[in-house]
Amino acid sequence: AKQGGRGTFQFYASEMNERVAAHRRLVDELRRGIAADEFFLEYQPRFEPRSLSVVGAEALVRWAHPEKGRMAPCAFIPAAESSGLILPLGEWIMRTACMQAASWDGDLRVSVNVSPVQFRDRNLTAIVADALAQAGLPADRLEIEVTEGVLLEDPERAQVMLRELKELGVSLAIDDFGTGYASLSYLRNYPFDMIKIDRQFVSDIGEREGGRAIVQAILGLGNAMGIAVTAEGVENAGQLASLINDQCREVQGYLLARPMALPQFAEFLVRAQQ
Ligand code: C2E
Ligand code: CA
Ligand code: CA
Ligand code: CA
Repeated sequence: AKQGGRGTFQFYASEMNERVAAHRRLVDELRRGIAADEFFLEYQPRFEPRSLSVVGAEALVRWAHPEKGRMAPCAFIPAAESSGLILPLGEWIMRTACMQAASWDGDLRVSVNVSPVQFRDRNLTAIVADALAQAGLPADRLEIEVTEGVLLEDPERAQVMLRELKELGVSLAIDDFGTGYASLSYLRNYPFDMIKIDRQFVSDIGEREGGRAIVQAILGLGNAMGIAVTAEGVENAGQLASLINDQCREVQGYLLARPMALPQFAEFLVRAQQ
C-alpha cells in the first residue's frame, strides 16, 4: 500500500509538472499573441423582447491563433488572469469595443466584460475614461459587466471602483446573477443598473419544476429595486414567450442571434434597422 501511495504521489507530481509547463507555454503564447495583435471581438446583439428591436451588444473576445485556430475565451482568460496579462488584453478589449461601437449605426449600447483582476488595477477608471474619449463614445453607451468575483475579493475596493466608473456615466451590470452566494446583498450595496440572469436559470424555464419561478423572482426583485433585467442564453421560443410575459427588459441568446465578428454585426444592424 505504501509503495502504491508513493507511486500515486509520483504520478500526481509529474502530472502537476506537465500542467505547470502547459500553463507556462500558454502564458508565453498569450504574451506573443497580444504583441502580435491576434485577438478580435465578436458582438452578440441584445434585444427588447416584444419588438425584437436591437438595443445593444455584448463584446466577447476571441483569439485567432496562428496554429490552433480560433480559441474561445474559456481557453485563455483564466491564464490571462493568473499571469496578469488580462491587464493589457483587457485594456485592448475596452479600447477596441469603444472604438468599434462608436462606428455603429444608431446609439446602441456596448457591453464589455471586465475581470476581477482589472478591478484591482488602480488605472481602470482612467483607462475607461480615455477609451471613451479616444473613441468619442458617450459614456452612457458603455455598460461594464462584472461578476461577483469583483465584489468578493475586496468589497470596499469594489465599492470605490464601481462609484468611480458610475461617475464617468457608464452603466454597471452584474453578470451571471444567481450563481453565487450572496447576490441579494449586492443589489443593496452596489450601484448596479442591470442584472443579467445567468443562462442556467433561463434554460430551466419550462424544463424543471420551479425554473420559471426563479426567473420570475429575479425579475420581481429587479423591478422592486428599479434595476433592469436581461436574460442571457435564450435558446427557444418557449423561453422567450415566458420572458415577455414576465416583463423581462432585454434578451440575448442563440435563438435571436449568435455572436458575430464586426463586419457581420454591421450587416446585421443594417438589416435589423430596415
Ligand atoms: P459571459 O459573459 O456569461 O458571456 C456569455 C457567453 O454565453 C458567451 O460565451 C456567449 O457566446 C454564450 N452564449 C450566448 N448566448 C447563448 C445561448 O443562447 N446558449 C449558449 N449555450 N451560450 C450562449 P463565450 O463568448 O464563449 O464567453 C464565455 C465567457 O468568457 C464569458 O461569459 C465571460 O465570462 C468570458 N469572456 C468573454 N469575453 C470576455 C472579455 O472580453 N473579457 C473578459 N474578462 N471575459 C470575457
Ligand atoms: Ca458577460
Ligand atoms: Ca453571463
Ligand atoms: Ca457565464
